[in-house]
Amino acid sequence: MVYGKPARECTAPQIQEEVWTQLKQHLNAGGATTLDDTNLLSWFLDPDIEFPNPGTAANAEPLLINTAGSLQYRPEAQVELENLFLASDYVRTYTDIACMEAANEAARRAVNCVLAASGSTASPAQLWPLEEPAFLKPLQEVDRIRFGLGLPHHLEST
Ligand SMILES: Cc1cc2nc3c(=O)[nH]c(=O)nc-3n(C[C@H](O)[C@H](O)[C@H](O)COP(=O)(O)OP(=O)(O)OC[C@H]3O[C@@H](n4cnc5c(N)ncnc54)[C@H](O)[C@@H]3O)c2cc1C
Repeated sequence: MVYGKPARECTAPQIQEEVWTQLKQHLNAGGATTLDDTNLLSWFLDPDIEFPNPGTAANAEPLLINTAGSLQYRPEAQVELENLFLASDYVRTYTDIACMEAANEAARRAVNCVLAASGSTASPAQLWPLEEPAFLKPLQEVDRIRFGLGLPHHLEST
C-alpha cells in the first residue's frame, strides 16, 4: 500500500508503516477516525522475522500443529484472573487447530469476555462451530482407516 512491494522485500520500519497504514485505512472507514498516529506509542516486530543482507526477509517462526487430543489442555479466553483475557490461536475454540480462523475466533471470545466484564450492552461477537465440507468426509474416512491399519497416507504409499 505504501511501498508497493511484498512484506518480505521490506525493511522492519517499512513493514511497520505498511501494517499501520492498513490498520488505519480499515478502521477509519466511513469517515470515522478510530485510529490516528497519536495512538501509536511503540511497535514490535517478531524477532523471528530475519533480515539477511543481501536478500529478502525470512520468517524463521516454527509452524505449530496441534497434536490429537490436545484440545483439553488449551486455555479458555477467560482465565481465572478477572481482568486477563486471552486472544490467541492456542485458546480453546471450536477451531481445533492453530490457524488464522482459531486466532480470529479466540479474539471474538476475548471481546465477549471484555464486554461482559465491563457491563457493556453492546451485542456480543458471534461464535459458530467449525463446519467442515461434507465432500471431504469420504477422504477423511479413508485416512482414518489407513491410519488405523498403520498404513501411510495414500499419496505416500506408491
Ligand atoms: C510458518 C507458518 C505458516 C502458517 N500457515 C498458516 C496458513 O496457511 N493458514 C492459517 O490459517 N494459519 C497459518 N499459520 C498460523 C497462523 O499464522 C497463526 O495461527 C496466527 O497468526 C496466530 O495469530 P495470533 O494473533 O494468535 O498470534 P500472532 O499472529 O503470532 O501474533 C502475536 C503477535 O504478538 C507479537 N508479540 C509477541 N511478544 C510481544 C511483546 N512482548 N510485545 C509486543 N508484541 C509482542 C508478535 O510479534 C506477533 O505479532 C502459520 C503459521 C506459521 C508460523
